[in-house]
Amino acid sequence: MKRYNTVLVIAGLDPSGGAGLLADTKVCTLTGSYAMGVATSLTVQNTAGVWRAESIDSTLLGEQIEKAIEDIRPDAVKIGMVQSGGQVRVISDIIRRYELKNVVCDPVLVSTSGHSLIDDLDEGIALRKELLFPLCELVTPNLPESRLLGIKEGAREYNVLVKGGHIENSEISDDILIYKDGEREQFSGRRIKTRNTHGTGCVLSSAIASGLAKGMILNEAITAAKEFLSERLKHGSDYDAGHGHGGMYLI
Ligand code: PLP
Repeated sequence: MKRYNTVLVIAGLDPSGGAGLLADTKVCTLTGSYAMGVATSLTVQNTAGVWRAESIDSTLLGEQIEKAIEDIRPDAVKIGMVQSGGQVRVISDIIRRYELKNVVCDPVLVSTSGHSLIDDLDEGIALRKELLFPLCELVTPNLPESRLLGIKEGAREYNVLVKGGHIENSEISDDILIYKDGEREQFSGRRIKTRNTHGTGCVLSSAIASGLAKGMILNEAITAAKEFLSERLKHGSDYDAGHGHGGMYLI
């Protein structure tokens, strides 16, 4: 029998479909992986902003993840918004007990519109660094997140991709991969002129997880994911996709 390449997505639910769990599962489908998904949070948001975020009970979250992965083992895991400290603990514990591999964590802290997506920022950052990141193959902060997380040069237990999409007034959007041993690799990109940028971080990280699930090595998966993101940003630039920053072309 054949087997799907499987990705487990653990992320917040953005009903507008441009970011979070819905966007992540669309990306997995479009890049050839079978997506499973568990919501960490139900948000009230659209392309113009975030009004509210209600975290899912961490025990319920854990039960859902365990039942899904006991049945279908994920080849990769994409972690996005994780709202509460209890959720970080439960997810980290499951990754360790089930020895899940190819874990990609997008450290979603604050939405582009400025709404905090974490209950307690200091606790959320500390728990991620202590419990979750050391279990990851890759952590994908943008520049403001890498500052908040205190990501520095040098060796650590996990690889970090610092995304350049937030470099102001720049034509380029290069990402830097800092390997565990401190080695660096640059991934060049050009900034794409579009208003529809909602969920770019979600799309990149889930495309990387999907590549890893299909057996790509890390730098191949990043290259393919950057190409996928650029293409979807370009295609989406012609569309009226909401009143704010719309989602990209995930069709
Ligand atoms: N909502 C959810 C559930 C998310 O996961 C994210 C980002 O990862 C956002 C909102 C914010 O998306 P953006 O900053 O692209 O608006």
